[in-house]
Amino acid sequence: MSTTVVIREISKTYPAAFGAQASTAVNRVSLTINAGELFFLLGPSGCGKTTLLRMIAGFIEPTSGDILFKDDQGEHTVTYWPAEKRDTGMVFQSYALWPHMTVAQNVAFGLEVRRVAAAERERMVMEALQAVRMEAYASRKPTQLSGGQQQRVALARALVIRPRVLLLDEPLSNLDAKLRLELRGEIRRVCKASGITTVYVTHDQKEAMSMADRVAVLEAGQVVQVGSPKQLYRAPATRFVAEFLGETNILRGEIQSITDSGVTVNVGGSTLLARSAMPAGAKAGSPVQVSIRHEALTLGKPGNVNVLQGTLVDSVYLGEAAQHRLDMGESRLVTVMVQNPGSPAAAGFDRIGSSLALHVAPEDVVLLPGAAN
Ligand code: ADP
Ligand code: MG
Repeated sequence: MSTTVVIREISKTYPAAFGAQASTAVNRVSLTINAGELFFLLGPSGCGKTTLLRMIAGFIEPTSGDILFKDDQGEHTVTYWPAEKRDTGMVFQSYALWPHMTVAQNVAFGLEVRRVAAAERERMVMEALQAVRMEAYASRKPTQLSGGQQQRVALARALVIRPRVLLLDEPLSNLDAKLRLELRGEIRRVCKASGITTVYVTHDQKEAMSMADRVAVLEAGQVVQVGSPKQLYRAPATRFVAEFLGETNILRGEIQSITDSGVTVNVGGSTLLARSAMPAGAKAGSPVQVSIRHEALTLGKPGNVNVLQGTLVDSVYLGEAAQHRLDMGESRLVTVMVQNPGSPAAAGFDRIGSSLALHVAPEDVVLLPGAAN
């Protein structure tokens, strides 16, 4: 009986105030978040993620558009419903636990408000604390917990009321790097086990990649692309998505020909075969941006197909990987990431100034709309 969330053409314009101009934080966003899905809103700071999440929660009224909650029982347009009527659970960046209450009392609070009987309440609190592996801390005060533990309690507090939709706004941002990694898996496990439809906001692409069923990438208040982490990483629709989801080389290209086996594109005098989709409306002669991820380049031999020629400029050893940069002419640099590197010489990147051929598989040559600058 999980809930599907349908967002139709939602916009929010904050009115002008204190000398600031009116600004459209969310601009005609349409999304369907499936029942039981762990769905991410990903984008840089200021792109409208929090505003969109708060409209789903009912804390902010949209300027236009609609929000629907659907389940087996039926369908409701909740756009102007007050927050408390929507049955959403929310977890914020700051844990916002009540310091004078124990962990159990914090989690129980929402149930008391809903007048759940004491025995039932106790059972549900323990169940929620077990789900986040905090049952041993039930009688502690929040100040006696680490940040990661406090955030687990905040999650239990949101889950205990069995919300129709769980909303998380950068829940890991206040934690140190190690805890963030640990809690990624933990939060995913808890959300999927609960079966509750979850919308998770973050600016951290690794968090989204490692946790999400699907991700919507937002740019300046608009959804640019929706897909699984792998779809977004391997087949970005725009340069913004390609660069936001990971490290990539963007090269200037021109489409040469379109054949059954793919598209050939001229990149600085070299011909590359690409098996990616063509940008809409592109044809032979069209300028395109060619995106090649750092890890997709390997050392090739001159004369091979799908090869770019360059001069080694520098190499940086990073332990698990080594990063090499090559000058491709026209002051254009290309970065190559080699995993599990031995010595630079063994990898073939031995001498600064040497001329090298870089190979890329057709599947890894991604064509994006627009002309690279
Ligand atoms: P994000 O969560 O992605 O960082 P926000 O939704 O917080 O983005 O903000 C989106 C845009 O709306 C930003 O330009 C921000 O400055 C503006 N904004 C957010 N809240 C308000 C507000 N209460 N009044 C006016 N402008 C706001
Ligand atoms: Mg925000």
